[in-house]
Amino acid sequence: MMDETNLRTTILTVAAAVAAHADELTALDSAIGDGDHGANMKRGFDAVAADVDAIASNELPEALIKIGTKLVMTVGGASGPLYGTLFLTLGKQLAARPGDYAGALLQAVDAVAARGKSELGQKTMLDVLYPVAHAFRDGKSKSEILAVAEREAAATKDRRAIRGRASFLGERSVGHIDPGARSSALIVEAIGETLP
Ligand code: ADP
Ligand code: MG
Repeated sequence: MMDETNLRTTILTVAAAVAAHADELTALDSAIGDGDHGANMKRGFDAVAADVDAIASNELPEALIKIGTKLVMTVGGASGPLYGTLFLTLGKQLAARPGDYAGALLQAVDAVAARGKSELGQKTMLDVLYPVAHAFRDGKSKSEILAVAEREAAATKDRRAIRGRASFLGERSVGHIDPGARSSALIVEAIGETLP
């Protein structure tokens, strides 16, 4: 599915997208959190991009494990361990069941939910990750999956946060898009840009 050149391009495209939207993520997190999500994500994906040679020279499962490990070490906040878990589990699952991308992605999102003690609908990154994983499993086209990511990130605006820092605001968290849902959508879109 992905050779070294494509993997390299995908990694650098994701990192560039995160960097380009860091201010937007920070603004979202300033409204319902502590305003560090843009900086957290940029730090993490810059670190991944800086290591792209060492990462992209591996088979995809091992590369994903290295990305997850790097994110755990560099992103920080609540989102660091969660994004780390996502990529680590994706890599481990793909190694265990080669070629089953949809199954591996669902397992990875379940691992994020377990790690965050969270579920779909609580105004977190899961509100994008689950619908994307389900759309991918259901064989939706790339453009449909990207539309799901975009739409579901926007849909977090009307929800009340039940997990994460934004949950401290209770009802006052309504009316703002969740920063982690937005960053998940950005990552999905950037990956989509580089895949056929
Ligand atoms: P912090 O909240 O520690 O400042 P970030 O600002 O980097 O960390 O990340 C916040 C994002 O992390 C939230 O917008 C939300 O999407 C996600 N998040 C926080 N807690 C959880 C959780 N328990 N489960 C799933 N996602 C979560
Ligand atoms: Mg924050």
